Amino acid sequence: MVRHHLSGLPLSQLHRLKQRIRSYVGFRKAVASFQKTHFADLCSEKCFTSYTSACCGREGIITFFADVVVNVLLSTHEEIDGLLDILDTDTGGLNCVYLNKTGCLWRAKPIVCEMFLCEHAKNLVLDNNKALKSQWETFRRRERRYTWPTRPVLFDELEDYFIGAGFDSPLMYLHRSPGLLRLKARHGLGNAKAPK
Ligand code: SF4
Ligand code: SF4
Repeated sequence: MVRHHLSGLPLSQLHRLKQRIRSYVGFRKAVASFQKTHFADLCSEKCFTSYTSACCGREGIITFFADVVVNVLLSTHEEIDGLLDILDTDTGGLNCVYLNKTGCLWRAKPIVCEMFLCEHAKNLVLDNNKALKSQWETFRRRERRYTWPTRPVLFDELEDYFIGAGFDSPLMYLHRSPGLLRLKARHGLGNAKAPK
């Protein structure tokens, strides 16, 4: 649905949306680079070589609607086809449906996945290194600037945009989750109505 809508937009509107997510994409690149530098070896040794990452359990994934929009904006048609194909051919199991032998199939994985570190990884890498710990905490604060609606945030704005275009999705948590709606109301944020 997201791909279909975006592919029908005039180039100027598509360009505006891409501009709108630019700073978020910069943030994601910085986090990915941090993860790669400080956690890739540990994660590879503990989880990925055994193909049993605790990060990527089937029940563990939480995806926001904005995750989908950002990923579609950044992906090729072939990459999105790949995600849809895997949903059609899913045979169950314990792992997330999007995990394959080369890793996650999303070009920009959901933010909850990106920001997850298990206790083992945190203890080993962050607990004895104040500088790294503080860098990670800074990333967590930056994440909230895009996702946590105590002020106007990108994730809410992208939902608004699609709601305004007549779409609805159960993943629109910033318009559906009672907790997030209360938080928005407490901070005086209006709400585009999610269709029933
Ligand atoms: S963060 Fe923890 S659970 Fe996830 S891949 Fe790394 S070591 Fe494994
Ligand atoms: S979407 Fe990707 S990163 Fe997230 S749980 Fe699935 S395979 Fe892992």
